[in-house]
Formats: sequence, structure tokens, C-alpha cells
Amino acid sequence: MRSAAVQQFYSHNDKAFQRLLMMGFAVVAAIWMVEEMTGLVATFDRVGYSATIVVTCFCVVLSRIFNKTSLAKAIIFIHIAIYLMSLAVFSFILAANQGSIYPLASTLQWMPIVYIVAFLFLAKRIAVISAIGIYCLLIIMLAISYTELFPVNNTELRVLMINMVLSHGIYIFCMFSVIKLKRTFRESEERALQLEQAANVDGLLGIANRRFMQKKLDEYVSEEEPIVVLVIDVDHFKSINDTYGHLVGDDVLRAVVKCMQNMLRPDDVIGRWGGEEFLVLARNTDRKGALTLAERIRKSVENQNFEDVGRVTVSIGVAGNEPNTTVAQVFADADGALYQAKQLGRNRVEIVEE
Ligand code: GH3
Ligand code: MG
Ligand code: MG
Repeated sequence: MRSAAVQQFYSHNDKAFQRLLMMGFAVVAAIWMVEEMTGLVATFDRVGYSATIVVTCFCVVLSRIFNKTSLAKAIIFIHIAIYLMSLAVFSFILAANQGSIYPLASTLQWMPIVYIVAFLFLAKRIAVISAIGIYCLLIIMLAISYTELFPVNNTELRVLMINMVLSHGIYIFCMFSVIKLKRTFRESEERALQLEQAANVDGLLGIANRRFMQKKLDEYVSEEEPIVVLVIDVDHFKSINDTYGHLVGDDVLRAVVKCMQNMLRPDDVIGRWGGEEFLVLARNTDRKGALTLAERIRKSVENQNFEDVGRVTVSIGVAGNEPNTTVAQVFADADGALYQAKQLGRNRVEIVEE
């Protein structure tokens, strides 16, 4: 599954792709117009330009309206790869036979767009294959320009080809660096996410830690969202440690957490507040609902037979946030209720009266 950061990266990438398509549309239309006005347009290009405009519009619609950006990327890539590579061969033959350099020079200028699109928007494998393919084509054309196949000994054409082979080498090298940067970016985003997760999770029990619960509590209270807080404490836990040892104590804590988690609803958040004390933040519920939840948790722990130690119980203090109450107040209320539950004999739920 993609992390939020990586998802965000893909969404930026898709938007950049759509912008590139729209720019491509405008640029092709402008070049077409200029070439028509100056009489430099070839028939092959007329077909190519109109096809490019149609394909570009189709891909914009596919990506923006139908959300099929991957398909749009593949279509535009195949189109420009076929178009520019066949145009390169065509204009090369034209240059060789008629000595007209302009069609070839303008085509070769645009060829890097094939692997730029592939490196930025498609898989690395496709990008590498297209870069190697185009580079091989350029080298073959350069080699042919030195053979007897050329009736005209065109120095300009040869120097142009040498220029292209060298500059395209640099473009490809740069694009490899972009791919490396892209991978490094994604890896560091993933690492940052893992670190953030580690900073929010309790190492022993695998549930949210105090830092995370404090953040959630602040968040809910500042949004003035009605919440109910359950402070849960394992009864006489010290004696479990003293009797069976700390390792068994740890196992009991894990089992108690599992047992409590099974009783939660999808919106409830559980975390370790410290030692053998836990917090449950219940949203979308009233005090009665929270009381029922607390009772369910208490009973499920009470009814479980814990390995090695047998019966374990918890006491629970419940408090809700009234309008304008602070985090500290809600927590102090729930803690007060827990203290009362302990005083009244443990294995019970107490709630702050309204
Ligand atoms: P009460 O019913 O009043 O809550 O009594 P208690 O014994 O549970 O409370 P007390 O605060 O005296 O003891 C809590 C014990 O929990 C002491 C501490 O060593 C133990 N404890 C805290 N964290 C851990 C832990 O991660 N693993 C283990 N095994 N024990 C822990
Ligand atoms: Mg305790
Ligand atoms: Mg305690």
C-alpha cells in the first residue's frame, strides 16, 4: 500500500503531467502555425502535428475527467516515441537526399522529450529502453552519414549529428540523475513516515503511545469535538510482576491490550498512557455510550483467563469534554473517576457526574 507521502508524490506527478500535456498542445499549435507561415512545414509534419493535438486533447480528457492518468501517460508516450522516431528517420533521409537540414535539426531538438516523459512519468525500465533506443538510432544515423549511402558529402549534417549524439548523451545522464533523485525522495519520505510512526507507537505493546494520545486529545479538544475519555488501569499489577516476574507481566499487558482492542469501535483510539495505564478516546458517543463501552472493556478483561496468572481486572475512570473544557480538565476528571473506582474496590467503572 502507498503511504500518504508517496500518494502525495504521485498526485503532484499527475498534475505536472496534465500541465505538460496542455503546454505541449499550445507549443505544437504554435510551431505548426509558424512553420505554415514560413513555408517550412512538411506534409508528414502536418499529419504529425494534427495527430499530436488530437492525442494530447484525448489524454488530457482521459487524465482529468476519467482519472485514467496511467493510460494517458502510456498513450502519449507511445505517440511521441513513434512520431519522433519515424520523423527522425524520415528527415534524415530527406537531409541525405536533398541536403535540407531544417527538418532533421528541428526533429532532433524535440527527441529528448521522449525520454524526458518516460523518465518523469513512466517506469524506469521503459525510460531506460527508450533512452537506449533513441541513442542507438542517433549513433546509427551518425555512422550512416559517413558511408557511401550519402550521395552528398554534407559536413553540416555530420557535425549536426555529432552535436546531437553528444548532447543527447548529456540529457540521458541528467535524466538518470533525476530518477535517482526521485528514488531518494521517495525513500526518505518513507523513512520519515516510519520514524514518525515509531515516535507515535509504544515499543512494547504496539499501540499508540502517550505522545500520540496527547496530540489526539489536544486535537479533539481544540476542534471542540465532543469526546469521552476512558482512563484504564490494571488492578494490582505490581503483585503480578512480583509473583510471576516482569516478563510474564509484559505478556499480561499485551493480552489485556488485545482484549480491550477487541471491544473498541472503529472510531475509538486506544493508547498507553504510561506503565499499566491506558487511555481510550471515544468520539461520536455520549456519556451513556461511553459508559457501555467502558463496561464492555471491564467485563471482557474480567472474563478472560490469562495465561500463567489467571484472572486480571481493570478499573476505569470516564469523563467527557463539556464546551470550553481544557485537555487538562478532561483528563483530570477521568483520572479523578479512576481514583474513585480504585477507592470503591477496583474492577469497576466510575464516571464524572454532569
Ligand atoms: P493499583 O490497583 O492501585 O493500580 O495497583 P498496581 O499494583 O497496579 O499499581 P502500582 O502503580 O503500585 O504498580 C504498577 C506496576 O506496573 C509497577 C510497575 O513496575 C509495573 N509496570 C509498569 N510498566 C510496566 C511494564 O511495561 N511491564 C511490566 N511488567 N510492568 C510494568
Ligand atoms: Mg494499577
Ligand atoms: Mg497505575
